Amino acid sequence: MRKRSLRSLDAAVLTGRRALVRVDYNVPMNDSGGIGDTTRLEGTLPTLRLLLDGGARPVLLSHLGRPGGRVVPENSLRPVASVLAQLLGSPVRFVPCTDTPEAVEASRSLPAGEVLLLENTRFLPGETSNEPGLGERLAQLGDFYVNDAFGTTHRSHASVVGVPTHLEPAVAGLLVELELDALSRVREAATRPFIVAFGGAKIGDKIPLMEAFLTHADRILVGGAMANTFLAALGMPTGKSLVEGGAIETAADILRRVPDLLLLPEDLVVGEPGAAGSARVVAADAIPADLAAYDIGPATRARFSAVISTARTFFWNGPMGRFETRGFDEGTREVARAAVIATESGAFTVIGGGDSARAIREAGLDLRVSHVSTGGGAALEYLAHGALPGLEALDEDEP
Ligand code: ADP
Ligand code: MG
Repeated sequence: MRKRSLRSLDAAVLTGRRALVRVDYNVPMNDSGGIGDTTRLEGTLPTLRLLLDGGARPVLLSHLGRPGGRVVPENSLRPVASVLAQLLGSPVRFVPCTDTPEAVEASRSLPAGEVLLLENTRFLPGETSNEPGLGERLAQLGDFYVNDAFGTTHRSHASVVGVPTHLEPAVAGLLVELELDALSRVREAATRPFIVAFGGAKIGDKIPLMEAFLTHADRILVGGAMANTFLAALGMPTGKSLVEGGAIETAADILRRVPDLLLLPEDLVVGEPGAAGSARVVAADAIPADLAAYDIGPATRARFSAVISTARTFFWNGPMGRFETRGFDEGTREVARAAVIATESGAFTVIGGGDSARAIREAGLDLRVSHVSTGGGAALEYLAHGALPGLEALDEDEP
């Protein structure tokens, strides 16, 4: 199922016409009301430049935060406009409305060479419920539709799945295309050895993703809190570690089905819950009753690195430990370094997941792997199922 690309549109579609672009500018805001991280804005620049260069007039829709269908001033997209203008090098206008006649008027009067950013789609009550009237009203804002909001493409919201049913053509933007190319390569065309590493905390959510890899990964490394649940499934003591009780049975089932595929930690860094200075290393089957496992240990790090160095394809989701706390970040850093080394020796390496992407960026290594997905949950859902609601809504590629 390939989707029609923005690159396929010719001058007749582009020149002078309004491109209604769904972007994902759900950026973290810092304490002073500024933008904490511009990665998501940067990701859309190729699409915006292609549109501007082609003479189209981009009108942008995005959400920010979870305002729940009403106006919450802290969730306004207004501060994004000036930062985007700086990054893009073109003027970006902002209007504090989204589906009103004023918004439509602003889109019609947008001069060539400029971009219009509308207010937060989640200020509107019908956005997350995909109220049909809202999709129709928002469609008045453009002459054709571009989805470049990869991180939101798993949501059946009005601006993602409703609007494109009213506009023609409805195409995939360059960021969406880039993401799909990288993720499909991992999902469908991984060269072997294909090594996967899982960590993080949301185990229940990630079991479907792990299932998707059980049949075609050559080795699955398990760290982070996810490993604790597998250790519990083996009947080992886990002390005060984060374990997802509801997932233990599924973990045990996976271990029965593919006993040799998963590589669990042999040692762990444990600490007192809440006390960062207390880190020490124990064997994986000897977590003390009053402590919690917060990172993989040095022997595990070396073992995981060695396995990753054999990969021709490497996919990683989920930090290897509580990487936000010093002393529990070494496992995550080591896997990030191993991914870089594998990339340098020719492997195709993809990092997915919101916190994993943050971890590799903070380690300064994000540009040294093949692809870091901006997609978070959307990337994981696409890898697990090969489809996303917002993609279904776009035009098919011509054969
Ligand atoms: P991603 O966003 O990359 O998919 P998750 O959201 O599943 O990853 O997990 C990230 C979180 O998991 C981080 O906040 C990290 O601190 C936490 N985490 C990882 N390992 C552990 C652990 N052993 N104990 C507690 N928290 C952990
Ligand atoms: Mg996360």
